[in-house]
Amino acid sequence: MGAAYDVLIVGAGPGGSAAAHALAQRGLNVLLLDKAHFPRDKTCGDGLTPRAVGVLDEMGVLNELCRVGQGVQRFVVISPRRARTQAPIPTERPLPVRALVVPRLILDDRLRALAVQAGAQCLEGAHVADLKPEGKGVIAEVERADKRERYTASLAIVATGANTRLLRAIGVLKDQPKVLVASRAYFEGVRNLEDAWTLRFDHAPMPGYGWIFPTGRDTANIGVGYFKEDRHQSAHRAFERFVASPALRERLSCATRTSPVKGYPLRDDFLTAPTFSERVLLVGEAAGLVNPLTGEGIDYALESGRLAAAHAAEMLERGDFSVESHRAYDRALRERYQALFEFCLTVRRWLVRPFLLDVLVWLANYRTDLRTNLARVVLGGASVRGRLTAKRVLRALLLKQ
Ligand SMILES: Cc1cc2nc3c(=O)[nH]c(=O)nc-3n(C[C@H](O)[C@H](O)[C@H](O)COP(=O)(O)OP(=O)(O)OC[C@H]3O[C@@H](n4cnc5c(N)ncnc54)[C@H](O)[C@@H]3O)c2cc1C
Repeated sequence: MGAAYDVLIVGAGPGGSAAAHALAQRGLNVLLLDKAHFPRDKTCGDGLTPRAVGVLDEMGVLNELCRVGQGVQRFVVISPRRARTQAPIPTERPLPVRALVVPRLILDDRLRALAVQAGAQCLEGAHVADLKPEGKGVIAEVERADKRERYTASLAIVATGANTRLLRAIGVLKDQPKVLVASRAYFEGVRNLEDAWTLRFDHAPMPGYGWIFPTGRDTANIGVGYFKEDRHQSAHRAFERFVASPALRERLSCATRTSPVKGYPLRDDFLTAPTFSERVLLVGEAAGLVNPLTGEGIDYALESGRLAAAHAAEMLERGDFSVESHRAYDRALRERYQALFEFCLTVRRWLVRPFLLDVLVWLANYRTDLRTNLARVVLGGASVRGRLTAKRVLRALLLKQ
């Protein structure tokens, strides 16, 4: 079989588009497929952490996104008993904004267009039903406008988000992983909206939190997300309870909800998730790359998309599609994310409890270093190495780093 494309990418969310952009920039022949027609919405809090902002800057779209999004410099945490603390969002290098809120309807369309500008070919409304290694490449079975089409490539990157249907069809994922769940809606006319990310632990299920992310002067993305221990607890009901809490009721008293309330699962199982199969590399949420503590995943999708692109380019250049070369990609992901994910899971298991959160937030008001450490944890930038215990994690939070 002669492959028509060098790399075929399934899913044009941040992970798929970042990979397509990086590969097309290297002059490779890239086909990007998505079942949706763009611009399309993706249920999300729309928060872009400093990690995401850094990648968007490297991709050359940050200034443009700053003009359409809402820059955020601080974060605010409200504890279960409504103690409040706040701190600047820490950054590694000076950029026009520390963090951003950009509706996914805009962000994903812009990133997909950027990949196309760089030379990738994009097919919308193209549902990939199957992906098979065959001969010297992969074949994608695609359903598009009631027709079945086949596309061939030397390699595939799968960036299908939390939707596991394709991963189960190709046999890379055997069981449905446990997930986080979250629901959100957009509002306008929100009172006393701060130019900060507000994370509220009052009236949100634990482990989890509610958020208020400003999208404009008086408009916001408001939602709630949590790890679903109880199968019967619905994210919609958690959302309704959160917006009916006294603090939110007051802020929303003159507000209008401008979108339906939408919920979606989040895969945070990177620690046990497969990251490749024959001639296929997984990126973003398809590899379980969502922070188990904060639920953010755009940053990891962008980063892993670019990492997968670099690996794919190397495999193509060397003509090396051995198991070992696939494993090298897995190793690179584990080197980058393993400790961070272990740390966040330990914090979630041991520390996201009402009493401890009340104490931490109260203490943070007296200790700048604790506020900074909290910010690092909240934004997915903290990690401790070695064997993790609740005591070590607590020390990492409480001691100067
Ligand atoms: C309510 C909620 C709030 C969130 N808030 C935040 C936040 O504030 N900040 C943050 O960083 N993260 C947040 N996340 C997580 C974030 O949305 C995801 O981690 C991120 O979108 C993952 O990017 P991705 O590129 O891996 O996949 P996605 O963005 O999910 O993109 C997957 C794409 O694949 C396409 N696709 C799927 N299957 C197929 C198929 N078989 N054939 C063709 N196309 C297919 C889909 O149409 C989609 O376009 C939130 C998630 C939820 C649910």
